[in-house]
Amino acid sequence: MTPTHVKRRGRYCMPMLSPKLLVSAIYVLLPILLILPVGWQPAIPTVQAAVPIEQFTLGTSAQDRPITVLQIGKGKRKLVIVGNTHGGPEANTYDLMLQLIAHFRAYPEEVPETVRVSFIPTINPDGLALDSRFDSVGVDLNRNMNTNLDTCTENDWTPTVYGAYGIVSDTGGPFADSQVENRLLQAFLLDASGAIFLHSNAGLVFPAFCEHAPSIAMAEVYAEAADYAYNRFWPNYMINGGMHDWAGSMGIAAITPELVSPTESEFDQNLAGIQAVMQQYQHTLPLPTDRVEAGIPMPAVLWRYWRARGGEAVFGLPLGPAIEQDTSIVQTFTNARLHLDWSQADPTRLVTPQPLGRQWIERHHPTLERTQALSNTEGLPLYQARPFRYEETPLFFAETGHTLRGSFLTYWRRHGDAAVFGLPISEEFVHVTADGVPRTVHYFEHAVMAYYPEDGSVRLEPLGWQTLFLERLHATTVGPQVR
Ligand SMILES: [Zn+2]
Repeated sequence: MTPTHVKRRGRYCMPMLSPKLLVSAIYVLLPILLILPVGWQPAIPTVQAAVPIEQFTLGTSAQDRPITVLQIGKGKRKLVIVGNTHGGPEANTYDLMLQLIAHFRAYPEEVPETVRVSFIPTINPDGLALDSRFDSVGVDLNRNMNTNLDTCTENDWTPTVYGAYGIVSDTGGPFADSQVENRLLQAFLLDASGAIFLHSNAGLVFPAFCEHAPSIAMAEVYAEAADYAYNRFWPNYMINGGMHDWAGSMGIAAITPELVSPTESEFDQNLAGIQAVMQQYQHTLPLPTDRVEAGIPMPAVLWRYWRARGGEAVFGLPLGPAIEQDTSIVQTFTNARLHLDWSQADPTRLVTPQPLGRQWIERHHPTLERTQALSNTEGLPLYQARPFRYEETPLFFAETGHTLRGSFLTYWRRHGDAAVFGLPISEEFVHVTADGVPRTVHYFEHAVMAYYPEDGSVRLEPLGWQTLFLERLHATTVGPQVR
């Protein structure tokens, strides 16, 4: 036995109490207890309940660098602060984020009870490592968001954009929301009340372009507290595909503060801005609100996911109200069934489509997967979940043994890839679709795609409608058992 072990044991040993000692102790203590006033409570030191601090990653960048988050508090109003979108040239915003994190780690009680604040020190770790404004393939992440969802058209996404100092370049990306970093950020913002995107170095604060009162209120509050100039609009040129505009279109209060200096972090000023935004949460951090589509109510977070990932064109309209069960909510749409799970550990998978494609193939084509697997795969590039690739040459998916090519691959890429549709679970084959016409179809875990040669489009089969129909049919025919 080691000496430390002996010591540890000794520390926890109860001293021996003789019965005689116990009786004397009662005689001494009893009079004291009797003269204490009724209702007397021992003084408990006033320690506030610990504010939770969590660290996690959203996922990895195109070059496999982690995108980390530090989250403080557990309030309903989620404020997301994003640093360093523009990599190396705006590294001072990364320094600022590290200082803010150190501050709020030391003083977590500064976060109001109704707020939880998430710090993302860099959303562009590749650009920071490569000393580039862009991501690893030359896309400006702050020009790549789908900003076509608000009511303004001037700021819509476009591949050719104004960048730093107004220089026009082809850096909007191949299509809106193409970059993995942006999709992770969007998934994390689904339940956000506010978002602050830190940049440098124009020395002003501006809100989302389209009229959005909470964004304007947040920009005014931040600018005044941080002693920066407030501008209703970015004055130098039109920003297409900006993060603040995407967030604003989702009902998230969104602003872009630009530091004055290209090198200094201006910590005190930005700390004051963030503190003011949190303290005035009633004006600056609105709770996400439920919406109505086609006369049917949709919970706020489901509505944001549905809209961000293609809305009616991809999922179809809701077929009925959402159904709540414990910590989850399910809503069925014509082409999909969306599942919101508050207990989900992965912060980017709060909403996921359910695997209706897999259920359908098991019900209607039970032998399809086996007979089709591993056909013509020699020489095809192997699909990898990360990093994102642009090639539209066929991809082979080792996990399911299937190949994705042509129009189906393009559609899958452009509308959210595996996160929305899952992996392919069949090859292309001809099958009669829901409109009674034989068409080329492709099965995925969450959906079925069909090719329409009339106009060259790919559309989803109405799996949500078909699933709901079968469930209702089942529910009405199975009555109470009669013996
Ligand atoms: Zn910037």
